[in-house]
Amino acid sequence: MSQQKVALLGVPVDHNSTYLQGAAIAPQRIREAIHCDSSNMWSELGVDLGDNPQWIDMGDLVFPNNDRQQTSQIIRSSADELIKRGERLLSLGGDHSVSFPLIDAHAMHYDGLNILHIDAHADLYDNMDNNPLSHASPFARLMETGRIRRLLQVGIRTLNGHQREQAEKFGVEIIEMKDWSDDHQISFDGPVYMSIDLDGLDPAFAPGVSHHEPGGLSSRQVINIIHKFAGDLIGADIVELNPNRDINNMTAMVAARLAKETLARMISK
Ligand code: MN
Ligand code: MN
Repeated sequence: MSQQKVALLGVPVDHNSTYLQGAAIAPQRIREAIHCDSSNMWSELGVDLGDNPQWIDMGDLVFPNNDRQQTSQIIRSSADELIKRGERLLSLGGDHSVSFPLIDAHAMHYDGLNILHIDAHADLYDNMDNNPLSHASPFARLMETGRIRRLLQVGIRTLNGHQREQAEKFGVEIIEMKDWSDDHQISFDGPVYMSIDLDGLDPAFAPGVSHHEPGGLSSRQVINIIHKFAGDLIGADIVELNPNRDINNMTAMVAARLAKETLARMISK
């Protein structure tokens, strides 16, 4: 009898990024930060992640070329295979385009899947730069499948008219950053996939991202959300670290902390 594990999976893709490249080297940097000797392997939740058989690092996916459809297919089928084996995935991006195939693979296995999405951006564009798989559109593609029960977005502070219309059309629930308060209780019925775009944090906390949007969440606020939201966390991703823009690996360390807290929550459920 195999015990259900959490699998850490790197998804080194940045060719669907509209503004800057760099996120493809992020998975390795986050992995190094997770194991950095400046800290230890304990989660705040009291779980020791060091030499813990309940999670396993699967390394990075390998892509033969930059073909967008093929890349998306490889992500989808790799996730599908791991989920079928009974593993829970924590994926490290990559730009946010990776979340469409990742989450859709989960939605095929988990009926009534909910999504908790932390980001400065709603990523609901119908079409940006004539690339339907752009990192500006993953949540539009997901909602079009009809397989998502609820999409709740937190930290959003860049809505334009088009994205408000898209949110309305798909019934997306948005807690805009301007309306956020720390006593807001987030809760879901059933399975939850959590997608964290690091630019949801304020650039003061996470400078190593491609899109700096002032007025965002603190590291503490995001950690608290991971710890406290109600629901069954069945999968997650942390995306959009751009190491080329980072300062002293600060943002890689933030990503590593969020990864540790997420792993601990997925393990200790
Ligand atoms: Mn995003
Ligand atoms: Mn973003």
